[in-house]
Amino acid sequence: MRSKLFGKIFFSILLVILVWMAVFYLTTQVVLTRIFTRQYDNFLQNPPPAIAEEFPPEENQIPEGGQQQGEGMGQGPNPNNIRAFLSGRLREEIRRIFQSAVNLSIRLATILALVVAIIASLIIASQLVKPARQMSVAAQRIADGHYSERVALPDNLNQNQYDEWQDFAHQFNLMAESLEETETMRRQLLGDVTHEMRTPLTTIKGYMEALMDEVMQPEPATFHRIYQEADRLQHLVADLQELSRAEAHAIPLELEVLTPNELIEAAYHRFQLQFEDKGVTLEVDVPDSLPMIHGDRQRLEQVLTNLTGNALNYTPEGGTVILSAAVEKQNIHFRVIDNGIGIAEEHLKHIFDRFYRVDKSRARVSGGSGIGLTIAKSLVELHQGEIWVTSAGEGQGSIFHFTIPVASMD
Ligand code: ADP
Repeated sequence: MRSKLFGKIFFSILLVILVWMAVFYLTTQVVLTRIFTRQYDNFLQNPPPAIAEEFPPEENQIPEGGQQQGEGMGQGPNPNNIRAFLSGRLREEIRRIFQSAVNLSIRLATILALVVAIIASLIIASQLVKPARQMSVAAQRIADGHYSERVALPDNLNQNQYDEWQDFAHQFNLMAESLEETETMRRQLLGDVTHEMRTPLTTIKGYMEALMDEVMQPEPATFHRIYQEADRLQHLVADLQELSRAEAHAIPLELEVLTPNELIEAAYHRFQLQFEDKGVTLEVDVPDSLPMIHGDRQRLEQVLTNLTGNALNYTPEGGTVILSAAVEKQNIHFRVIDNGIGIAEEHLKHIFDRFYRVDKSRARVSGGSGIGLTIAKSLVELHQGEIWVTSAGEGQGSIFHFTIPVASMD
């Protein structure tokens, strides 16, 4: 395909040049000598006085071969003799010499022009085809697994100065970038999942071996530990399944008209006892008449459950968690506010990434896999909303925010 495009461009350029050369050659062949003859004859009819004076007056005869043998001087020139001389064989000779000189120079010019045209066509065609070749090579490399491959683009141009090829190459690079990102995420996910599964499996296997070898007594505490690890694995698998469905937008939303209050109240009632048990105060701050939202009750409750559960996990005894909702422009702005351990600034932008945990050892104890917030983010985005977190820093508490558009009235 590459050579076809190159050939097409090359021969198109060459064809234009050849046509131009043929026209030039034929025109000069037909027109040049005719013009010359006409002008020469014209010259004979009206020779300029300066030329007439150069011939001796006694030159009455035209010698053979155009040679003159004058003897005397002093008489005026005879224009008829001059005319006869110039229009005789000399005229034919001059015409022949002129034509052969013109032909020779045209032939030389044609050969030279052809060589230059071929070189120029080769350069132009290869320049035009170069980006396509580069893209083909890059695509081949990407297909071979080199996802960092890119087509080179001029540094001194910005995007809206690109020509069609450069724009094509730019789009190709964007596509390569997103492929690279997907591949990185795939590898990372595989690595993370393997890592997450290895620890509980190793623990379960260790306990079972110790029981089989009778190194450990089969007592309830041992079984409880094994049960906990199996439970962790089950949660992880369920979370992963949910995450992959949410990220693939494969969760069908069962939309209904809801009031923000009912969602907050549901979360409040679900967690009330757990908060009491831990000694953390749970409060609700929602104005009475908030606009309705259009959403999937179960999924939005799941978001609030994830955020409220985290707030409980990361707020020590004596702390307070507030569930709030308020109207803001065309959205309902939900907030889960805690005065717990807070989040240092460097972690804020990663907090919604898969498997991201600020303190891995602590989260392991609390049973978290670092997927809850990623799922919450996907679910909010499925509702055309946004989710983000703010925190003044470690020990300063955190606020998890999300917005859901207000239901339209029609
Ligand atoms: P996990 O199951 O580990 O809680 P999440 O995705 O829900 O996973 O949370 C990711 C990480 O974000 C947690 O491990 C924790 O470090 C941090 N985090 C989440 N919520 C809070 C919070 N309210 N206060 C402080 N840190 C939090």
